[in-house]
Amino acid sequence: MRSAIVLGAGMAGVGTALHLQQRGWSVVLVDRGEPGRETSYGNAGIIQSEAVEPYAMPRDRASLWAIATGRSNDVHYEVRSLHRHLGPLLRYWWHSAPRRHAAASRACAGLIAHAAPEHAALIEAAGAADLVRRGGFRVLHREGRAMQDAVAEAERLRARYGVRSRVLSPDALAAAEPALKRTGAGAIHWEDPWSVRDPGALVSAYAALFVRRGGTLLRGEAESLGPGGRGWRVRTADGTVEAEAAVVALGPWSPALLRRFGYRIAMVRKRGYHRHWRSTRLLDLPLLDAQNGTVLAPMAAGLRITTGAELAGPEAATGPAQLARAEAAARDLLDLGGPHENAPWSGIRPCMPDLLPVVGPAPRHPGLWLQFGHGHQGFTLGPATGRLLAEAMSGETPLVPAAPFSPGRR
Ligand SMILES: Cc1cc2nc3c(=O)[nH]c(=O)nc-3n(C[C@H](O)[C@H](O)[C@H](O)COP(=O)(O)OP(=O)(O)OC[C@H]3O[C@@H](n4cnc5c(N)ncnc54)[C@H](O)[C@@H]3O)c2cc1C
Repeated sequence: MRSAIVLGAGMAGVGTALHLQQRGWSVVLVDRGEPGRETSYGNAGIIQSEAVEPYAMPRDRASLWAIATGRSNDVHYEVRSLHRHLGPLLRYWWHSAPRRHAAASRACAGLIAHAAPEHAALIEAAGAADLVRRGGFRVLHREGRAMQDAVAEAERLRARYGVRSRVLSPDALAAAEPALKRTGAGAIHWEDPWSVRDPGALVSAYAALFVRRGGTLLRGEAESLGPGGRGWRVRTADGTVEAEAAVVALGPWSPALLRRFGYRIAMVRKRGYHRHWRSTRLLDLPLLDAQNGTVLAPMAAGLRITTGAELAGPEAATGPAQLARAEAAARDLLDLGGPHENAPWSGIRPCMPDLLPVVGPAPRHPGLWLQFGHGHQGFTLGPATGRLLAEAMSGETPLVPAAPFSPGRR
């Protein structure tokens, strides 16, 4: 029986472990904590079938000026830590040019088409249907001009990829979400995405399914990874584990580990924050306030307010400005009540400068496989890229062309 160690029990690692197991591999899933407690816990919980095009760096003057002058809350940066992001950001800029973005979009659209079906199979097998709402999500636009642009964009995505959406007038939005105090210029309702009321619990449910099916879940430190008798070994709380293959699925921590093996991997590290509020009148579906880059997501723990991207230093600020602005914007839309937590959660979206996740064999280390860099959509994509990697490791035909996601791509 072929054997693998999967390092990292976020959505990407758990998705991979389940797909390897399904193909007859003996799998040990290793994490230093509980499954789904990091980035895969803290996100907005949307399984984004509409995200057919990866999130490009804004290139138009108006957007860049808004970011540079701090008027956009979608992207926030600290001047003193900007130099640390410059290399990856320049590459991100280059790959966001229209022709390159179009190529990345073709690859992304092919993959994202498999995201919800892959989740559906796992949700059913894991008995996790009560965590998932299949009603889509809405994007509120506060200004008429922004709404017009959004309608045109939704039409473009429908014509090109078949993405389904409905345009809601301010009145229609008010009828759909009576808790809203204002409805701006209306909303786009993306109809096909699903939302999860406790993202970490969904990952835990998938991990429990992996264990029920005979997989081994262990606490261990990925930094102990090294070549071993059968291929690779790692130290865990239950002793040293060896396997012929190892998978690095450590989300934003992946480049740091791989540096030890001589790989220098540029990643755009986009921090995001959230905090839950005890709003008494919750929303029916998640709502993205486009102008503020803020998602208001009804969750089991309350109304989760998440922020856009912050390019900050590694030391997380508590009481961050971007979250404060997001919460002020949310208060303008809803009666928030009091916060559940004093200190907000923060985590890093692991974004690759060329907009696509890294899924495939490590270029110079036989038996070492990579599965990270899912950026803004890792909660959505983990099971689909897990399948793509398991197929590559098993020598099967991949569900989508694998080359755009290859670690060796240029
Ligand atoms: C605010 C915010 C909102 C988001 N909203 C959405 C959304 O609505 N939809 C969507 O699809 N995506 C969303 N994302 C993105 C998504 O959350 C991530 O892309 C995804 O969770 C990454 O999953 P992962 O498994 O790669 O990483 P992680 O979930 O971070 O998992 C990595 C695992 O590695 C483990 N680990 C790290 N270092 C070590 C070590 N040395 N030893 C052992 N274990 C280690 C960690 O404990 C962790 O469990 C959002 C992200 C943020 C920040």
